Amino acid sequence: MNKTKMISTVGPSSLDKEIIRGLIKSGSDVIRINMSHSNFDEARKIIGYVREINYEEKLLTGIMIDTKGPEIRIGALEEKKLYLEKNKIIRVSESEIVGNKDIISISIHGIISHVDIGGYVYLDSGKVKLEIIEKGQDVILCKILNDGIINQYSKVNIPNLDYDMKFLSNYDMESIKFACENKADYIALSYVKDHLDVLDVNDELISLNNNNIQIISKIENQSAIDDIDEIIKASDGIMVSRGDLGLDTEIEKIPSIQRKIVDLTKEQDKVIIIATEMLASMKDNVRPTRAEVSDVAAAVNDQVDALMLSSETAIGKYPVITVETMKKIIESTEKEIDYLHFLKNSINKGNTISKAISYSAVSSANNICADAIVCSTTSGLTAKLISSYRPACPVVAISPNEYVARGLSINYGIIPVYTRVMSSTEELIELSKKAYRVMLKKDKGVIVIVGSFPLSVNYTNYMKIEEIK
Ligand code: PEP
Repeated sequence: MNKTKMISTVGPSSLDKEIIRGLIKSGSDVIRINMSHSNFDEARKIIGYVREINYEEKLLTGIMIDTKGPEIRIGALEEKKLYLEKNKIIRVSESEIVGNKDIISISIHGIISHVDIGGYVYLDSGKVKLEIIEKGQDVILCKILNDGIINQYSKVNIPNLDYDMKFLSNYDMESIKFACENKADYIALSYVKDHLDVLDVNDELISLNNNNIQIISKIENQSAIDDIDEIIKASDGIMVSRGDLGLDTEIEKIPSIQRKIVDLTKEQDKVIIIATEMLASMKDNVRPTRAEVSDVAAAVNDQVDALMLSSETAIGKYPVITVETMKKIIESTEKEIDYLHFLKNSINKGNTISKAISYSAVSSANNICADAIVCSTTSGLTAKLISSYRPACPVVAISPNEYVARGLSINYGIIPVYTRVMSSTEELIELSKKAYRVMLKKDKGVIVIVGSFPLSVNYTNYMKIEEIK
């Protein structure tokens, strides 16, 4: 069973119950719905399918709603697609016009006065690069720097744009409300600029009476990198969104930015996700490139919580084969990880009783080569703490709250289990043994049980090692 989790995005090539079942049964722990491309009806349909599959297969697959965010888009084009030729000149206008080879429009007004001559504009997620050579009131003149075909309504990126676009549009607010109403587990926030954006969403969730949904901040521009410590503090998790990041910063800096964000996020015990182009060539091929295999393996070696597939499963030809491939790479790489070395080098954050017990549980489990740590968790916190020490064995997390259990589907090494309400520590031990047998399909073994004693104290203060014969 792999410890590194997988997130798969559902889109046109996977919006079908049996394909979604295939994604889940091949190892996807979380299904992501990208609100830049899916509408509410499609999102409702996807959530409905995932819930049915969870019920039929006795699983706890999580749901992630990814907001559209303050995107800039190309307007309509006469032929839907447009070939742009290197060295030709094109105008980019804020007025709504149907574009052709001489002029195209962009969707947000007020930006042009904030761009600089000599700066760059990327069209269709970087397919064509333009250099700004002249600037008018609501139009810029640009030189086309490479040949390429762009699609209407595709994404525009302007690196280092100093323009305060409203972070949450009405559509984003509706998406957040939709995520809460449909009990989604994670909301991924696109184009977070700083921690104040995250706090605004947190306030919104409080006003919607939702304290279960977890906020994942997508890091995709320089301003978010500049405020990374505070963004991590304000969020439940971080996604290194390498697609937009590679356009807003120099592409060659992505590996070092990824390294830094992974380390900082793990230091704060928050969820860390690596996203975009992990197996991009599998959109059209049944085999990945060697470089992609190495990229996936490098993230697994870094012991990040989760890896995300985007266009590979949303618009690719082989969504299920891609997930199967990623799972094989994860399993093969994890076999070589030295977990004992990781714990030795991690700080014992045991300044609370729960933290001290969590650390001791992982240390003991590693020392005795336990088959599992089984922890009961009310809020999910104990399970997350145990996971943050990256134990060598799996962590079975049992919770009487289905929402809490499902919210652990993204965390490293955790197998979430929804269980009945327990009334005593004895019952907790019995349920722990049962969860181990059922989830790991083993009759025997040594398990480290973590919970509360007496159960009514409601925090983690108890650890017991049980041999199941
Ligand atoms: C990214 O840019 O890497 C990303 C994950 O965002 P999206 O897929 O929403 O463009």
